[in-house]
Amino acid sequence: RADQAMYHAKAAGRNTLRFFDPHMQASAAQRFALQNEIREALLFNQFKLYYQPQVDRTGRITGAEALIRWLHPERGMISPMDFIPIAEESGLILPLGNWILDAACQQLIHWKQNPLTAALTLSINVSARQFQQPDFVTQVLAAVTRTGANPHQLTLELTESILATNQQDIITKMDALKSHGIKFSLDDFGTGYSSLSYLKRLPINELKIDKSFVNDILTDPNDAAIARMVIRLAQSMELNVIAEGVETQRQRDWLEQEGCLHYQGYYFGKPVGAEEFLR
Ligand code: C2E
Ligand code: MG
Ligand code: MG
Ligand code: MG
Repeated sequence: RADQAMYHAKAAGRNTLRFFDPHMQASAAQRFALQNEIREALLFNQFKLYYQPQVDRTGRITGAEALIRWLHPERGMISPMDFIPIAEESGLILPLGNWILDAACQQLIHWKQNPLTAALTLSINVSARQFQQPDFVTQVLAAVTRTGANPHQLTLELTESILATNQQDIITKMDALKSHGIKFSLDDFGTGYSSLSYLKRLPINELKIDKSFVNDILTDPNDAAIARMVIRLAQSMELNVIAEGVETQRQRDWLEQEGCLHYQGYYFGKPVGAEEFLR
């Protein structure tokens, strides 16, 4: 059963082959059932954004990453890793992506009303399929305009998977959004397969060290070498660098010593609902 398989994949964690991994064979019927459920979930408002703090070297919260959760009425909370791939392949990521943009911009408006949160930045994950839409720029700007959010407080997190498309198209879109003050972060940096040459062409503001490297930074010399390389690269290209998946003080200290001054991870705070984030 599709729902049982989902639970299984969820319990197995991120580095395990998942039932709904595109390379595994979830039956067409199971995928179709899940697509319909996602469609219903959009209608019945079952999605919610969680917020995970991003902190600077002093421990001050400078912003958050918005991470989607599916609050399923029967199955409880479903991880994005179990439905974002299905949403992507079915095209439902387009309405879902717009919902995410809207919800995130509305959150910025809520934060604006409180001096404690007024200056926070918000990072939003954008899937490749969403970015590749001809009207992507229009959709983002529409959400900003509709809500009145300040685009200077918005960062879009992209992964190297967007690079599969025409480079000029990517640059045109990024430049258009950048001209409104929106920033770009490269998520899961170092886990993709593309050449690094795109870095000098794309208007990127930030590299995000993937948590798979941060995880063993203290024990695996290869992970440490890669993390160090990403930090040096960011420094020499004058990009911001943030580490994700920081779980211990020792990992944080190692990163600081190597020159990475922004962090995100369970050590500082797990992703939580807006009310708890405020607290
Ligand atoms: P990501 O963008 O790389 O997000 C980071 C993931 O790492 C999140 O998982 C977060 O909860 C988790 N994480 C953060 N700190 C730690 C830590 O210290 N230890 C561990 N073990 N994990 C940590 P999450 O929320 O399950 O999201 C998984 C992925 O799903 C995201 O990876 C992103 O690719 C995708 N995703 C989540 N929300 C959205 C969304 O709104 N839109 C799109 N397109 N994709 C999303
Ligand atoms: Mg992300
Ligand atoms: Mg990431
Ligand atoms: Mg990651």
